[in-house]
Amino acid sequence: MPHIVVIGAGVIGLSSALRILSEGHAVTIIARDFPSSFETIDATAQINFTSPWGGAHNRLVPPSDPAAAREHRMALKTFAHMRALHARHPEAGITFMKGVEYIEAPDATYRALTAERARAELGMEGFRLLAEDELPEGVTWGCEYDTWCVNPMVYCTFMLRRFAFHGGKILKRDVRDPAEVFGMRDLAAPVDALINASGNGFGDPNVFITRGQTCLVSNTCPATVTRQNADGSWTFCVPRNFEGGTIIGGTKEPDNWDPNPSLEVRERLLSSFAATYPQILDSQGGKYTVMKDIVGRRPTRRGGLRLETEITAGKNCIIHAYGLGGRGYELSWGVAEGVAELLGAQLGAGTSSSTTQRRESKL
Ligand SMILES: Cc1cc2nc3c(=O)[nH]c(=O)nc-3n(C[C@H](O)[C@H](O)[C@H](O)COP(=O)(O)OP(=O)(O)OC[C@H]3O[C@@H](n4cnc5c(N)ncnc54)[C@H](O)[C@@H]3O)c2cc1C
Repeated sequence: MPHIVVIGAGVIGLSSALRILSEGHAVTIIARDFPSSFETIDATAQINFTSPWGGAHNRLVPPSDPAAAREHRMALKTFAHMRALHARHPEAGITFMKGVEYIEAPDATYRALTAERARAELGMEGFRLLAEDELPEGVTWGCEYDTWCVNPMVYCTFMLRRFAFHGGKILKRDVRDPAEVFGMRDLAAPVDALINASGNGFGDPNVFITRGQTCLVSNTCPATVTRQNADGSWTFCVPRNFEGGTIIGGTKEPDNWDPNPSLEVRERLLSSFAATYPQILDSQGGKYTVMKDIVGRRPTRRGGLRLETEITAGKNCIIHAYGLGGRGYELSWGVAEGVAELLGAQLGAGTSSSTTQRRESKL
């Protein structure tokens, strides 16, 4: 039985590890950080572990080029997987709800979006263009569709538990270089292939961080709402549910390493969102109740996510799956599927869709 090691216990490592486990391989996750309760996680010590700090919601973005079309296919695969997982495991931390999009200055891709194209070509369920009188001031285009949100640490701890329950092995280590893993003595068997789901890769010069500051409030919201402002800034909310509050966001700041939340930014985020969607205040008697300021670092990569096989000079197989930027949750099961296909090609086993479906019904 092939033994596969996955470096990383964020959403990408966990999804990939579970997907590979469903192929019947022996799988070990090695990571420095593992999911734990969000309430006790150390914001400073674990700032470079991105998955706890994500929203995380799914936004279906109409693709405007081949790379975006590839990501859209991954998002649809993830959507289908989340739907199935949610039906079998209501405790997994997933919620299906409406996604509302407001855009101040929509580009041609959005303006060309009809209900028919959204449903037939882009697979967006429950799509509806919003009427002019449904749009907040300053917004010129809006739509809603069916989507999902997760409570990140409820979801990730569920995935980790599921992985261990189905026979996956777990090792807490800080790895300096993927090459180190092939010689580790404390693994149950020699390593046939390694999945690099480390978020940032290991020294990839194309990877940079995109800082995100958000604010967690205990206000509830029946939809996930995103507003794209004409100046390039964003105003959004992501209900985490499962008593995890609602994220109000947020900033996107390339190469900003500041780990400290700014109170001024917090006030701006909260007031901008309340101006866009005043209903957010209803559940708390007309005000916000702040739980926590959040700063995270999206692992972004010039040229987009890296999903490819590398055979090293020492003839070791490494499958890279990192650089997901702000879309790790949205694309997670599409990436995991891609990892399984690359691994199947490498092991010479292949992954027929019927095999995939049969095993996915178990895991
Ligand atoms: C504010 C904010 C909002 C976001 N909102 C959304 C959203 O709404 N929707 C969405 O889809 N995404 C969102 N994201 C992005 C999403 O959170 C990330 O894309 C995702 O978490 C990346 O997951 P990952 O598994 O690739 O990396 P990580 O979560 O960073 O996991 C990396 C793993 O690799 C391990 N590792 C790294 N280096 C080593 C090493 N040297 N040795 C051992 N282990 C190592 C780490 O310990 C960890 O276990 C948001 C991010 C932020 C910051």
